[in-house]
Formats: sequence, C-alpha cells, structure tokens
Amino acid sequence: MTNKIISSRVNNIKPSPTMAVTAKAKELKDAGKNVIGLGAGEPDFDTPNHVKKAAINAINNGKTKYTAVDGIIELKEAIVNKFKKDNSLYYETNEISIGTGGKQILYNALQATINKGDEVIIIAPYWVSYTDMVILAEGVPVIVKTDKFHDFKIKPSILRKYITDNTKWIILNSPSNPTGSCYSREEIKEIGKVLEEFPQINIISDDIYEKITYEDFKFSTIAEVCPKLKNRTLTVNGVSKAYAMTGWRIGYAGGPEFLIKAMAKIQSQSTSNPSSISQYAALEAIKSNQHFIIDNNKTFLKRRDIIINLLNQSPGLKCNTPDGAFYVFPSCEELIGKKNKYGEVIQDSTGFCEYLLEDAGVATVPGIAFGMENFFRISYATSEENLIEAGERIKKSCKNLLD
Ligand code: PLP
Repeated sequence: MTNKIISSRVNNIKPSPTMAVTAKAKELKDAGKNVIGLGAGEPDFDTPNHVKKAAINAINNGKTKYTAVDGIIELKEAIVNKFKKDNSLYYETNEISIGTGGKQILYNALQATINKGDEVIIIAPYWVSYTDMVILAEGVPVIVKTDKFHDFKIKPSILRKYITDNTKWIILNSPSNPTGSCYSREEIKEIGKVLEEFPQINIISDDIYEKITYEDFKFSTIAEVCPKLKNRTLTVNGVSKAYAMTGWRIGYAGGPEFLIKAMAKIQSQSTSNPSSISQYAALEAIKSNQHFIIDNNKTFLKRRDIIINLLNQSPGLKCNTPDGAFYVFPSCEELIGKKNKYGEVIQDSTGFCEYLLEDAGVATVPGIAFGMENFFRISYATSEENLIEAGERIKKSCKNLLD
C-alpha cells in the first residue's frame, strides 16, 4: 500500500495549523520545560457529580444498548423544553437531532445538504472545523473577514456583498470561538433582515457557548429573533461547554423535520446513536438545576479580566473585552516584523506564537488557524495562578522584542 490510496477528499483539507505549536509545546514539556497551556478549547472544571451519577445509574440499569439513531425520546423531550424555556423556540421532538457532539451535528447537516459548488458563508475569524467540513462536503467556503473595531462581528451591508445564487448556508457563531464576541439581539435582527431577502440561504446558528456569557449580556438566537427564518435555520447546541462535558460527546440541534431526517440518515450509515450512557448524562445535565453554571461563569469572568489586563499591559498587544465563551483574541500586529534576541524576525501570528512558546513557555494558538493573521487566541479555561504567571511571562517576552 502507498499513500496514493489517500483520497483527494482528504488531501483537499489542510492539516491543522495549530499542530506545529501543539507539537512544539509537547516537545518542550517532554524536555522538562515549564509550559503553561492556554490552547485548550474546553472548560477545566470537572463534569458535575449529579451528571456523573446519572451516567453510572444508566450503566447499572442496563441502558447500554443501541438507541434510536438520533437520540432517545426522553432527551429529545428535554431538549424541546430547553429550547422553549431558554430561547422561546418551539420545536417538536421530530425536529430534534442528537449526535456525537455539536461537531457531528454540523458535519451531518453539511453532508446532508451541500452539493458540489454550493457556497457557505463563514465569518472570519471562525472555528477551525467549519471550512474543512464544507470542503469535505465538496462545498465552497466563502470567507467574510471582520475586524477588531467591530468586535469581529459581520456588518449586514458587508454580508450582502458575499451572497450569490449559490449561497446555501451561512454559519453564525455567538458567543464566538475564537474571539468570545457575542451578537446582541439588535445585531442579529439586522443580519436577519438581510437574510430574509434571500430565500436560498439557510442558517446554521452554532450556539454551543450560549450559557457562557458575562455580566448583563443577554444571549439571543436567530430562529427566535427572526421567526420568519426559523424554517430555514438549524439551531445547534450541546452539553460540552456549558456542563464541562467535552469528553461525553453529546450535541444536538433543532430544525425542520426534513433536514433532521436527512441528518439521521447520514448518522445511521456512519456512527449510529451517540453513546447511550452519555445521552442519559446529558439528560440529567439539561433537566437538572443549572445554578453551577452561574458559579462557573463568575470564575470565568474573573479569569477573563485577569488575562485581558495583563495582555493590555504588554507592549504591542491589544485585546478587546468579549462578552462570552472563554477565549480572547488579542492583536499582535504591532509586534510582527520585530526581532527576538537572536535577531530572528517575527514573520506572522504563527511566528509570534512560536516565540511565546520558546521565550515565555506559554502555548497559544495563532490567528491564522482561525482565518485571521496578526492575532492569536488565548483560552482562559485555566487557573488564576496559571493566567497571572502566563500573562506576566507574555508581558516580559513582548518587552524583550527588538525593532
Ligand atoms: N462549535 C464551536 C464554535 C466549537 O468551539 C466547538 C468545540 O470546540 C464545537 C462547535 C463542537 O463542540 P462539541 O463537538 O464538543 O459539541
């Protein structure tokens, strides 16, 4: 066998640009260097005990067999209630799909709908998987860049310019990975007004960070804000981020029945049902008391402010203050072109993150991984001590760069 057997489908997707930094971080750690990882895309909290207990009960009660392909009815009912209670969105159980993470839900939706050449509008900076999932489905990612002056949010007048007859989807993500930016109800309404004019466009609203917002920000989702768009919207969510359940792999969506059925067809020929045990754990997470989320968010908010403060004290870095998720996306633009102590020039965001890793022992993710140069992503899902130490080290390393 040779590598010629690898399909063009696979050869067409890029290896993750985060790999270089991740591999380097591991190499340095293995060599005994004290590396602080600020790259993780998951809460550092443990899954709540009552959720773990529900999973153990499921095992003990024999809930260990295949289930319906796209989820058990009890969990679908709980999701229907969640949408009603949290989002004033009214779905029936046959309009709910449950999969192995929000990731599988998104993958199924794109595979189920995209024909060769269909365009998908993706707003940069974007979550890394959107583009490659579209390419795997033989679609064309249409990247619309935003900027830090508008909090990395798309302006309706700009959006309009990217819409063609071939636009099949737009993917919205608020709170955003990698920027933490959140769209207000008014901003969603304005985007919705544009989308209402183009009946060929369908909307994926990736709400996976819905529960992680700060201070008085109020989360909204487009199917509720713009009811006319509900029948062409897939509202995606999951338990990974809100309930610290990334490893359990449960995501879900509400959308039109014909789409939900098509997604189930794909799932039936790939993975079948998501883990039965995880479904019972997710049921408990969604149905039970949500108070611990408030406590987790208080912790995240403190951490956010610690890291932003230190980043903004670092010469050459500028960082917006986002309303949600557990990421910040500072600009390192002013440091591109500067030299390290060996006279090596920082060429781009990847070069800057490599420098931070080597000089400060802090692992971050270059902005180019998310489709935007001159920025980098920091996840503050780690302890205050780690953040203070990492922030101080970053500050020192930025000071050490030379013209
Ligand atoms: N969407 C966004 C924006 C994400 O950041 C992630 C995970 O990092 C996902 C979806 C998928 O999450 P999961 O598959 O764990 O539900």
